[in-house]
Amino acid sequence: MNVSFLRIRILMWFVTLFAVTEIIVAQFCEKDNEEAWSYHGSTNGPNEWKNLFPVCGGLQQSPVRIETDLVRRDRKLLQLDFKNYEISVDLAEIINNGHTVTITPRDGVRRGIFVDGVPFTLEQIHFHWGSVERPGAEHTINHIRYPMEVHFVHRNIGNKTAVVGLLVEVQNGYNEAFIPIIQVLPEVKYKGESTYLQSRLTLSEMLPENPASFYRYIGSLTTPPCDEGVIWSILRKTTYVGRHQLDYFLRLYSVAKKDRSRWCLLAENYRPTFTPRKMSASQ
Ligand SMILES: [Zn+2]
Repeated sequence: MNVSFLRIRILMWFVTLFAVTEIIVAQFCEKDNEEAWSYHGSTNGPNEWKNLFPVCGGLQQSPVRIETDLVRRDRKLLQLDFKNYEISVDLAEIINNGHTVTITPRDGVRRGIFVDGVPFTLEQIHFHWGSVERPGAEHTINHIRYPMEVHFVHRNIGNKTAVVGLLVEVQNGYNEAFIPIIQVLPEVKYKGESTYLQSRLTLSEMLPENPASFYRYIGSLTTPPCDEGVIWSILRKTTYVGRHQLDYFLRLYSVAKKDRSRWCLLAENYRPTFTPRKMSASQ
């Protein structure tokens, strides 16, 4: 009786030790530290970026906290004008690069935006998301972090970058506009995997009903090398995806299939926020 009781005690002790070890090791993907930069590595995470990429320590960094009380209405800010976003993308490559999933239209259609009358051409869109526990948008509004953020990255002929940020909420049901993306995510589950969208993606349908009104500031790329001078337009209206649609993003990995481990999910791929120096809003 005593012997078996002791056995159980010893067994319980090992179970506890194992559980504690798991918790200590948790949320650390060793492969992260082998990258040039990462979101969760101990040697190359966001706090280290400024040491590895000096521009990341600049004074004009993104993302930022948007506090609506501090935003100045700017009558001169023209409404955002999206060009050809309503033309469905019928050829687009989707890639898991270990940091995010990018979608690059390859159908030859020039889509873009005008910033102060200057045309910027869309290069790619990508996503920032959280985890089962946490939301993962990059910009916060009045200290609220939304579940996800889509970045529409544009460039002009002078090589200047203009990014449109779209904040995404989560609801029951699903958002039809995101289906062409969601349906191929299982094919880019691991870093380095790529494929093509299998159905037409209409970017204008991903946008909220009134996408013209936005917050504007000058910031940076939110990933190394953190180049500054980026013209940011964060749409004031949000959109949404279904809870199950978001789950598809939460199942992606930041590593190649051979390096897969439960701690190497591509999750919480957002950079901590900065305080903006100047923030305006369109009418
Ligand atoms: Zn981004």
